[in-house]
Amino acid sequence: MLNVVIFGPPGSGKGTQSEKIIAKYGFAHISTGDILRQEIKEQTELGKQAKAFIDKGELVPDATIIDMLEKKLESLTTAQGVIFDGFPRTVDQAGALKKMLRKRGEDVNVMLNLEVQREELIQRLLKRGEVSGRSDDNLETIEKRIRVYEEQTAPVIEFYKAEGSYHAILGEGAIDDIFGRISSAIENAQ
Ligand code: AMP
Repeated sequence: MLNVVIFGPPGSGKGTQSEKIIAKYGFAHISTGDILRQEIKEQTELGKQAKAFIDKGELVPDATIIDMLEKKLESLTTAQGVIFDGFPRTVDQAGALKKMLRKRGEDVNVMLNLEVQREELIQRLLKRGEVSGRSDDNLETIEKRIRVYEEQTAPVIEFYKAEGSYHAILGEGAIDDIFGRISSAIENAQ
């Protein structure tokens, strides 16, 4: 069982690369952003609470996210591995994930940090906004999300450096070249 965290700022290609990882390695996919958007669509209580944060470009509170993640993890049937996409986004979430996995005798094996320049992130997200219909893909919210990333999420990098599972991945250039770099990191960990 391989636990992979795909990490990076908004627009760094976590979703795109997750799809390629799933197709190649058959891993289960846990995307907290996708789960939240589904909850919003279904107009659940959780969805209603989360929407207010998402639309402002802020993080949904840790307690809510950690509880949601734990339930999702428990519901997973056996897979070759799991890819955590968009989680953890705070150091507290990273600590909670470590505890949850430890209970199963597991740990995060690989943390992939997709590195992309700020200007490129903004251009990609604006382009995605033209087709995604996502309420948070507009310039004002994009800039807020990048700020929130720098302040609250970037410290997660130090957590995984200390754990020894950290891998920096150049997230610019052709999608398949980026995926090649990701594949090497995953295969070296197996
Ligand atoms: P994403 O699809 O990963 O870009 O997530 C979209 C939005 O959902 C984020 O801007 C946050 O508001 C919320 N969200 C997703 N994952 C998390 C998380 N792990 N912690 C807090 N908020 C999250």
